[in-house]
Amino acid sequence: MEKQHYTGLIDRYRDFLPIAPDTPAITLCEGDTPLIELKRLPREWGTDCRILAKFEGLNPTGSFKDRGMTVAVTRASEEGSRAIICASTGNTSASAAAYATRAGMECFVLIPEGNVALGKLAQAIMHGATILQIKGNFDDGMRLVREVGEEMPVAIVNSINPYRLQGQKTIAYETVGALGDAPDYHCLPVGNAGNISAHWIGYSELAGLESSVTETCESSLASCSIDVPKQVDKRPVMVGYQASGSAPFLRGEWVEKPETRATAIRIGHPQSWDYAWMAHRESGGWFDECTDEEILDMQRQLASREGVFCEPASAVSVAGVMRDIRSGKIENGSVVVCTLTGHGLKDPSVVEDVKLESVEPTLANIKDVIGSKLGV
Ligand SMILES: *Cc1c(COP(=O)(O)O)cnc(C)c1O
Repeated sequence: MEKQHYTGLIDRYRDFLPIAPDTPAITLCEGDTPLIELKRLPREWGTDCRILAKFEGLNPTGSFKDRGMTVAVTRASEEGSRAIICASTGNTSASAAAYATRAGMECFVLIPEGNVALGKLAQAIMHGATILQIKGNFDDGMRLVREVGEEMPVAIVNSINPYRLQGQKTIAYETVGALGDAPDYHCLPVGNAGNISAHWIGYSELAGLESSVTETCESSLASCSIDVPKQVDKRPVMVGYQASGSAPFLRGEWVEKPETRATAIRIGHPQSWDYAWMAHRESGGWFDECTDEEILDMQRQLASREGVFCEPASAVSVAGVMRDIRSGKIENGSVVVCTLTGHGLKDPSVVEDVKLESVEPTLANIKDVIGSKLGV
């Protein structure tokens, strides 16, 4: 029998997405990312928890944003839009630029001056987006995008676009597909909080359970009643981690001047504020925060001890999990999935301070180094 190669998440999950059967997908074969079990770190922490990383850095533009973008851009294209627009801390602009190119559309991105990682900027430039760098932060950009969307013929592809969340819910589908069940805990970084809301929609559909996130979100969708067969009987506890300098969910209110080295979650006015609180309440979950130091330390540990290089924002999920496992908040023996939202290559500045020494190209020099490292 001929094996059909993987052609992206709309083709795989079309029946569960608000995309008509005959609508051609605008796709870069996103999704189908690996669920990698962490081996060394859990052993070091002395826990019997299984910790698995859903490595979204392996999407076509290097972050989970591609899952939402394929659905949002497919719909925009079907509706005849000529252009898309977004505000972005970097990854949304990279993804929007790539998918707009696939669709033959114009792409406009608003980015905060000085706070976008170089890799992400390179992507938006190379894919030919029109970049508007603003003297403000993400929240300022988002406000402008909402306003311009009312006056100009451009489709907004930020996560306030409900199709984005529909695409991103497939992380839950794939996780359940891989594990055969929902995990006990699903932990992830929270910026605008679209992703945690999307995860919750996906898990709720699979469990055949109602969620006020799904309901509220569906009422804003233009078409398609989503009918997913019951496959599992539980949903995970949802845990959202933020960076201390940008932690509105911890403060219980918006933060006016968000700061963190984890630029992907440097957001003070989360757009999916209500949805995330619903997911929090319905799952019995919690929010917590980590300092930049904890975040960067965990990013390094994941890279150097597990072989998984994610970007700083992504590492907050595992940094938070480590603390919650140690304190017993996450019970021993649990199955814990962490979404590693983006690839480490996005932000090469994390090694900026590392100075490499050059040596003369002699065999003796090389043998010396190997010898001292291996003790031979
Ligand atoms: C967008 C993004 C986030 C935050 O996701 P939200 O849906 O805004 O909460 C986290 N990490 C990375 C790498 C991202 O690109």
